[in-house]
Parts: sequence; structure tokens; C-alpha cells
Amino acid sequence: METTFMDIEKNVAAVRARIADAAAEAGRNPSDILLVAASKMNGAERVRRAVSAGVDACGENRVQEFLEKNAQGAYTGCPVHLIGHLQKNKVKQAVGAFDLIESVDSEALLRLIGGRAETLGIVQDVLIELNIADEDSKSGLAPALLPQILEAAAELPSIRVRGLMAIPPISTKVGKNRPYFAQMQELFIDIRSKKYDNISMDFLSMGMSGDFEDAVREGANMVRVGSAIFGARHYGL
Ligand SMILES: *Cc1c(COP(=O)(O)O)cnc(C)c1O
Repeated sequence: METTFMDIEKNVAAVRARIADAAAEAGRNPSDILLVAASKMNGAERVRRAVSAGVDACGENRVQEFLEKNAQGAYTGCPVHLIGHLQKNKVKQAVGAFDLIESVDSEALLRLIGGRAETLGIVQDVLIELNIADEDSKSGLAPALLPQILEAAAELPSIRVRGLMAIPPISTKVGKNRPYFAQMQELFIDIRSKKYDNISMDFLSMGMSGDFEDAVREGANMVRVGSAIFGARHYGL
């Protein structure tokens, strides 16, 4: 059955409660954890429901879908993040349009974003997306290349790296992704201690509907939750 508008509000509250429990378990303050509604494939009216239920941001996967829904007022009053892979030919539209581009996965893409931001006279906030489980099928930078991309970012004044993002494998078993989340937290803490220019390790974005509690237990302060808020997505309609 279709998830109704009322369900969306209830679901946001339920997800918040689960985040709070996981945070309490880990001795953390739940208000430090930002809830990003992964709103792909949900129409403007449904997205507005999630916004009015108090999510901290919306996350969209495709630039085109974002532009259409934005024109319909889907996100009014709410920051929007790009969480899907950014194609190089969409950089021009994306820079300045999103409050945070979470999915920077190569130095070439970083440089394109920096160039566009410079042209616009703005500073674009980004996260570096890591392929933490080394999956062939996934976008994301190999963790070994992280020092190199951070050094490149330090030379780009129109870019501000705000943290790291990861999409580990779809978790089939509770607890399965915890080691990946733990590795991400280690990298996050390590980089933070190094103090590169233009890099402030503020956000560690990890955890989706199937595993956000484990991500919170391992230090995530930004979780991206789609189906637990909006219901299952209907592909191929
Ligand atoms: C769709 C999506 C999510 C949310 O997925 P759910 O399993 O529905 O919570 C999170 N992050 C990214 C990058 C996504 O594309």
C-alpha cells in the first residue's frame, strides 16, 4: 500500500526515536545527529511532508529530478544535499544549487566543482565519498587516495570539504556493516587531527534505512534515510 502523508510524519518521528536510542546507547547527544530524508522518486508533496515533519535536510540523487521538484516548492525552508553520483556534465547545474554535495568521488570532479564555484564567486561545501568496502559496482574514492584529494582540496579556495560519506553494501544482516562504519570513523578522526587547509571534518554521513542505528553507534552524525520514511520505492513505473 502507498505510504500516506500521515505515515510520512509518523515515520520521521519513529526514525528520530530510533536515532535517539542508538545515540543514548553510544553515550552521544541525539541532537548532534542530522537526519537527511533521501527523497528520490518521491513527489514534491510527499517531500514537503517530510520537511514539515522536521527532517534536517533532503537528499536527492539526480540533478534533474531536484530541479523539477525544487520548482514545485518541495524543499522550501530545508537544505538540500546531492547524494547520488554527479556526472561531470551536470556540475554546472549542481554547484550552488545544493547546500552540500555529498558525493565527490574523484579529484577530477573536485576540480570541476571548484572551477565552477570560483566562476560563481561562491564556496561550495562538499563531502568526499569513499568506497569503503571496495565494491566494483560502487562509486566512491578508494580510501588510499584520500590524502591526495585532500591535498588538492587544500589548494582550491572555492571548495570546502566538510567531511566524509560512504555507502557500504546493502546490509542483509543486522551488524554486518558495522566494521565499515568503524573504519570510516577512524579515517574521519585521523583527518580531523591533521588540519588541512579548507578542510573541516564536521560531517560523517553514513547509515541508511537498514543500518542507520549501527552507523550512529559508530559515530555517524548524518544519516540518509529513504524507505523508512517514505515507504518502499516503486521502480519501473
Ligand atoms: C536512496 C539512498 C539512501 C536511502 O536509502 P534507503 O535504504 O531507502 O534508506 C541513502 N543514500 C543514498 C546515496 C541513496 O541513494
